[in-house]
Amino acid sequence: MKKLENLEISNSFVKLGADFLQEKLPEPVSSPYLIDSNPAAIKLIGLDIAEVKKNEFLEYFSGNRLLPNSRPLAMAYSGHQFGSYNPRLGDGRGLLLGEIKDQYNNTLDIHLKGCGPTRFSRGFDGRATLRASIREYLGGEAVHGLGIPTTRSLAVIGTGELVHRETPEPGAILVRLSDSHIRFGSFQLLHFTKKSNKVTELLNYIIKRHYPTIQNESDKVQLLLRHVVKRTAKLIALWQANGFIHGVMNTDNMTITGTTFDYGPFGFMDRFNPNFTPNHSDPNGRYTYGKQPEIGYWNLSKFGETLGHLVDSQLIAEELANYQKIYNDDYRALMGKKLGLDIHDAEFKELVNNLFQLLYTSQVDCCLFFRHLSKLPNNFPETFRKNFKDPQTLDSWISMYIRLIEREDPDLNVRKEKMDMINPKFILRNYLLKNATDKAMKEADFSEVERLRILLEDPYSDRPELFTQYGINPEHYSAETPASSIEMQLSCSA
Ligand code: AMP
Ligand code: MG
Repeated sequence: MKKLENLEISNSFVKLGADFLQEKLPEPVSSPYLIDSNPAAIKLIGLDIAEVKKNEFLEYFSGNRLLPNSRPLAMAYSGHQFGSYNPRLGDGRGLLLGEIKDQYNNTLDIHLKGCGPTRFSRGFDGRATLRASIREYLGGEAVHGLGIPTTRSLAVIGTGELVHRETPEPGAILVRLSDSHIRFGSFQLLHFTKKSNKVTELLNYIIKRHYPTIQNESDKVQLLLRHVVKRTAKLIALWQANGFIHGVMNTDNMTITGTTFDYGPFGFMDRFNPNFTPNHSDPNGRYTYGKQPEIGYWNLSKFGETLGHLVDSQLIAEELANYQKIYNDDYRALMGKKLGLDIHDAEFKELVNNLFQLLYTSQVDCCLFFRHLSKLPNNFPETFRKNFKDPQTLDSWISMYIRLIEREDPDLNVRKEKMDMINPKFILRNYLLKNATDKAMKEADFSEVERLRILLEDPYSDRPELFTQYGINPEHYSAETPASSIEMQLSCSA
């Protein structure tokens, strides 16, 4: 395990040069303090956990001091925001500190978000609120806990300074890890500024770093597109199966590695409603839950456009056309797992269609509903059955479901065990997250952030000893969202 000074930072991205980035040091902050650090991510990068207690940890990760060899930089990118092209984006408040090897020898970016303005700030302050930083900190770890590719959170550090939004709020910095910070928008910037040789440079960089097996292929750019299509389709199938709504699927928030990226007004589905978005700043509902799969495709097509100088447009179209099948296959397989069914035939399809109809009309809590399914064929809880507006429709759905379970004749204990490992007991409900950020903001009490981080690292299981130690009442955290907080909406960039 390493000391902070021995973290080996490399800087491959910086070598790409000025078209891709601005070298910039973080702006110091007055009195950094720890809000929470994440032992799982600290272990991942091989850092000695005792280092967290040192003042140097705060100094390095608030941007007050530079990690050895780090050459911080703001990345340049543009992108489509809510369908319109914005030629001027880029890291306006975040800096890539460099790259680091994790314990599996994978390369991870270390990034600080909220560490002062850059040349891409467009007049904004380059800072982030404590509220938004905690949201992203916990969002990443909750999504990771569900087995979905995502950025990770190393720590969240208060700056001791206020940031001015609608009202003054405490500021914070998120220390974020990601396999990549390169977005579809990174390509779009170079493409729309007619720097096609730079698009090629960035492609070569990515292929070398993320897709080395295709490096020597003559059609490597087409193969890269194939990988990006595949990873994006698989990612969005996971979002849909888990009721995750990203909220801001702009092309600058989509990474080239298919990683959930940039947690703003995200949310998890309370009651099934495909027209729901947690983003208050999206009145037209461009990024609702139900639209995510098609937006994923739309975004990929924008990425595909940037490859036009290297790949025939017909071939680009063919690669993009694979998206739907990969998405459908993965989504079907995930629904099969959630229902504990291996045979995915026409009857299965009908069962799934009826299920969403049932969930939509009855407006019960989705997470709890799926969690209870592992109790079938015998013990569906009567108290939950009562939540259904029309329990008869539920009963007829259940009888079809039981028929499909019985035709597979599974070992019921094994089935339950498997299903309880895919249908979480705990999800990061926005009202729970709000309780944690309110406590942090109003009382400087970060214990709720810690509790949620611990709870969500394994959202499938009760861990009584640990729960007692941290005062986690599983009943409270697994309960459905209170009616007044259902479908909570938040606004963009705080
Ligand atoms: P986001 O909504 O977080 O994806 O941000 C969109 C763009 O706005 C990115 O280029 C950000 O860097 C920039 N941005 C958002 N908030 C700020 C801020 N407070 N200061 C500077 N740039 C910002
Ligand atoms: Mg963003």
